[in-house]
Amino acid sequence: MENVIIIGTGCAGFTAATYAARAELAPLILSGTQPGGQLTTTTEVENYPGFPEGVMGPDLMMQMQQQAEKFGARVEYATVDKVEKTSAGHFVIYLEGGSTKEAKAVIIATGASPRHLGLPNEKELVGHGLTSCATCDGAFYRDVPVAVIGGGDSAAEEATFLTRFASKVYLIHRRDELRASKIMADRALTNAKVEPVWNATVSEYITDDKGEMTRIRIKDTVDGVERELEVKCVFVAIGHVPNAGFLGDLVDTDENGYIIQQPAGTTKTNLAGLFAAGDVADHVYRQAITAAGDGCRAALDAERFITDLEEA
Ligand code: NAP
Repeated sequence: MENVIIIGTGCAGFTAATYAARAELAPLILSGTQPGGQLTTTTEVENYPGFPEGVMGPDLMMQMQQQAEKFGARVEYATVDKVEKTSAGHFVIYLEGGSTKEAKAVIIATGASPRHLGLPNEKELVGHGLTSCATCDGAFYRDVPVAVIGGGDSAAEEATFLTRFASKVYLIHRRDELRASKIMADRALTNAKVEPVWNATVSEYITDDKGEMTRIRIKDTVDGVERELEVKCVFVAIGHVPNAGFLGDLVDTDENGYIIQQPAGTTKTNLAGLFAAGDVADHVYRQAITAAGDGCRAALDAERFITDLEEA
């Protein structure tokens, strides 16, 4: 029986692991399909405190893992299918492949995944001109036109980054102003390679006979006029979906699937012993530093829960 199992290896998971390990709980961290979480798909992080020159996202995550492991946290690469709480009060975690783990407390730190538009041929196009990761795929599209969909910081950041490679970057947004912070919006919009396409939605991804993206059909939301843009790749940056589906009805979630921390201000959930930290429970702040802070709080909450169990 483990003291605490942490599911997820982003900023929340590794920070929870460091705190739990330093409390001598020897946490086990289960890493899913994206070890290191969302920061592994980004380039330079300029707003994580302590790095005045910025830090590369993957490097930061590697250092967080080393820090947790230094104090005795263990990382296992496993995908969790299901979590159950037994009548005896502990948790059983079912892993892909059929094995199980048991723990007194569980911290869910599974983050969130990029959202897609829901167009018919979207799944087949992933890897063939459709992606949510400019850092991963931008360099494949040199000297060709590409498009970014979205108006937030992600869209602005990706558009700017893609100008290193692409001949032109259409920044397609459904409104006439970006949601992105001023500094990131300005950086994108003042780049000569970025062409904003305001008040527009993408209605169709058009491929060649090999299934590769060639064009997109966009619709003006003001006058309804449709037109096509020639692009070799579309970078979708329209927000995220929390990775809490594997929990089924085990925990209370809001209408968008984010786990509800309750009472507010803690990382507790409706189920005693199950804690939630980071982007899986946060649709407001969603920053590396807020996820790390939440991971710290979850470890402290879990530590208190385990102490109370032992004293009962
Ligand atoms: P976001 O802020 O939620 O922005 C999502 C964007 O996608 C919005 O502009 C939204 O349009 C648009 N959108 C949503 N659904 C859409 C749909 N179905 N069709 C078309 N457009 C759609 O998400 P984000 O940009 O990923 O940022 C998430 C958080 O991470 C934010 O807090 C952000 O500040 C942070 N972040 C920070 C950095 C950095 O500091 N380096 C980088 C990236 C992200 P509307 O504007 O009309 O709602």
